[in-house]
Amino acid sequence: MRVGVFGGTFDPPHLGHLILAAEALHQLRLDRLLWVLTQDPPHKHGRMIRPWEDRFEMVRLEIDQDPAFELSRVDIDRPGPHYAVDTMRILAQQIPGAELFYLIGGDSLHDLPTWHAPRQFLQACAGLGVMRRPGDSINLDALENVLPGISARVHFITTPLLEISSTDIRDRIASGRPFRYYLAPAVYQYILKTNLYHNA
Ligand code: ATP
Ligand code: MG
Repeated sequence: MRVGVFGGTFDPPHLGHLILAAEALHQLRLDRLLWVLTQDPPHKHGRMIRPWEDRFEMVRLEIDQDPAFELSRVDIDRPGPHYAVDTMRILAQQIPGAELFYLIGGDSLHDLPTWHAPRQFLQACAGLGVMRRPGDSINLDALENVLPGISARVHFITTPLLEISSTDIRDRIASGRPFRYYLAPAVYQYILKTNLYHNA
């Protein structure tokens, strides 16, 4: 069983996440893809993040139509901080025998050495599905020096570069610019209904 693990803050989840997840599913021949909502992202401390209940509901709405996508509670049902290394260890116990592929954007791959216990995290991953991101900078040789074995685990997912981010969508909402078509329709409706980002 090949299982993708797509961690994120998803504040809000957008079409970029969806397009990338679908490509990763196909290109890495995954059987399932778990969307892991990080309740308390360690690298985003000090930033205002919407309540996990709202983000959870938006991811649920976004992936609802695709049977290969599942929303995981692994980083909801345990106390924080929610380090990815612990997420992977718990998932390995929950799904015995699974090969776990962690999906990650190019910006986050660049920051991986600053994550908690990055070597152990890497050991817990059968592979890393990397999705390039506009403006990211990836130097696999430099990463290999800090995290030996990483190059062999990296699988680049071929996609168009997508200049979509939750930050940009929050800014658009706050400044009254168009944002509707960067989101799954149900997520757009949820944001309208809850007025979640009126003071982003
Ligand atoms: P924010 O701007 O709030 O950081 P985001 O758009 O980066 O939001 P996250 O929830 O932080 O969304 O991202 C979850 C994962 O998806 C990360 O690994 C991130 O690198 C990746 N990702 C998000 N958007 C893109 C994109 N447009 N292209 C490639 N990777 C992306
Ligand atoms: Mg981000």
